[in-house]
Amino acid sequence: MPATIAIIGRPNVGKSTLFNRLVGKRLALVDDTPGVTRDRRAGDARLGDLKFTIIDTAGLEEADQRSLEGRMRAQTEEAIADADAVLFVIDARAGVTPSDAHFANLLRRTDTPIILLANKAEGRAGESGLYEAFGLGFGDPIAMSAEHGEGLADLYDALLPII
Ligand code: GDP
Ligand code: MG
Repeated sequence: MPATIAIIGRPNVGKSTLFNRLVGKRLALVDDTPGVTRDRRAGDARLGDLKFTIIDTAGLEEADQRSLEGRMRAQTEEAIADADAVLFVIDARAGVTPSDAHFANLLRRTDTPIILLANKAEGRAGESGLYEAFGLGFGDPIAMSAEHGEGLADLYDALLPII
């Protein structure tokens, strides 16, 4: 059985872009409209010589605001239940938002290893976001760009002991 890695984070941080890059096929819908991924999707991912199952989770901002927190919690718990590790993605350019902090609080309750990814950090973009991300308490974030394929070697190094 390949390891299962879940991608978690608020809408529009680049989860589906990362999923597509790791799977290599356009299986997950990517759109400029936040939260267009409606379901969890599984794909066969490759990163160097690592092979694993990757789970992309949906955006939830279309949900009724009153039930949003509950749905976020349910989906996050569902996604991490079967996962060997979680890729927690934030947008390094936006820094840590209240929604990111909410996800962080949910993820803090699990024993599943969490790898923090500060996405949209191509070039030198998002450097201040990296410092903020460190403050979430999941260790040093990995600066990456799912869109431009940067930071994948560091992601490989983080996944190697898990897979
Ligand atoms: P999701 O809602 O978390 O699944 O995010 P998406 O993968 O749908 O991406 C949301 C938006 O961010 C899209 O416009 C992407 O093109 C853009 N995006 C994703 N990754 C990157 C990145 O590494 N750098 C930049 N600049 N934009 C990105
Ligand atoms: Mg998506």
